[in-house]
Amino acid sequence: VSKRDGKMRCTWFKDEFDRSLEALRDLDNDLRAALLHEEFRVHYQPLVDSRTRHIVAVEALLRWQRPDGRDLGPDVFIPVAEESGLINAIGAWVLRRACTDALRWGIKLSVNISAAQLRNPEFPFQLGQILEETGFPPERLELEITETCLVLDPLVAERSLDLVRGLGVDVVLDDFGTGYASIGFLRQFRFEKLKLDRSLVVDSAVDESLRAMMLSSISMARALKMRVTAEGVETEDQAAMVRSAGCDHIQGWLFFAPMPAGEVAQHLTAEVPQGGTAKAEPGRKV
Ligand code: C2E
Ligand code: MG
Ligand code: MG
Ligand code: MG
Repeated sequence: VSKRDGKMRCTWFKDEFDRSLEALRDLDNDLRAALLHEEFRVHYQPLVDSRTRHIVAVEALLRWQRPDGRDLGPDVFIPVAEESGLINAIGAWVLRRACTDALRWGIKLSVNISAAQLRNPEFPFQLGQILEETGFPPERLELEITETCLVLDPLVAERSLDLVRGLGVDVVLDDFGTGYASIGFLRQFRFEKLKLDRSLVVDSAVDESLRAMMLSSISMARALKMRVTAEGVETEDQAAMVRSAGCDHIQGWLFFAPMPAGEVAQHLTAEVPQGGTAKAEPGRKV
């Protein structure tokens, strides 16, 4: 490789880098506009009791309907909003929307909270205010956090979580099985619930040693008095496996895909779903 080649490659990388920075800035501006022009929607995915298969809760999942019709998932745009701090405004919007929608359903509501929100010292007060404004009962609300929220700044996180719990709101550890959550970690934070990540559920169905780890995680969680939800269940085999492993609740396309608020009520009174074929969320690519 000649010197000249190296230099050209550097220039190329720099151009690429500038372009992606620019793309991120554009995306952040679009997100700002989206909040202003009400392009966000909240969809709800029911969680069922692993035994009775009755709906016990819903998880609020943010959707963005862009005017140009191009679809972007929250796993793409939330990190951008986190980077710029816009997540605080978006997160408050989601909480207010979800508490308003779920008020009449009479079941538990789970809302995802990102690390940047938890680090914001205003957050617990904002939450208290939203609960008061909407009249949503705190004991029916749970916040889903991931371990990155906690490892970055454990002291701040612990203080925020104490305040959140003081309001009567439960805390759930999301995406368990994808990171480093240890026994010490689970002891320190005392989550009310644990959510097994979809990758753990899917891979445990085919990998025996992973299944052994999943089983011991579940028994540890239960010994610590935590409830356990399995996420991303798409087949009856997976449902049977997580049920016999001791999961309390199941969430996944086998039962329900995320749906608009207007469709939730009909499922609360309908017959218990028999599973059948997993259905992805309409209008979203997977
Ligand atoms: P998550 O909290 O782990 O949510 C579960 C994800 O799995 C959702 O993806 C859901 O649509 C998807 N899912 C559910 N059942 C199945 C299944 O059976 N099969 C498959 N393949 N997928 C299934 P989604 O809606 O794209 O959300 C992705 C992530 O974005 C969420 O992961 C969460 O971390 C984040 N997120 C979503 N809404 C919000 C929000 O309002 N605030 C924050 N901070 N994060 C959010
Ligand atoms: Mg979640
Ligand atoms: Mg999850
Ligand atoms: Mg997950």
